[in-house]
Amino acid sequence: MDPARWDWRRSGYDDRVHAFPAGERASLIEAVCTHTVPYAKAARTHSGQRCVSCLLIVGDALAVDNSVDGPR
Ligand SMILES: [Zn+2]
Repeated sequence: MDPARWDWRRSGYDDRVHAFPAGERASLIEAVCTHTVPYAKAARTHSGQRCVSCLLIVGDALAVDNSVDGPR
């Protein structure tokens, strides 16, 4: 999993911004926290409250990446 390739989208279900795998085009897409939402209801925006689970999971992925490659 490449941690640099996330699409942050706001779910129309819970109005939180979740991290979805970039390039996801299925009719039902799944965030890294396992929140699922129809593609049509996932607005591509950073505005709104972010999902804490997604933040932590993506943050962990970035931390692992940095420990391999060094800080950027
Ligand atoms: Zn989430």
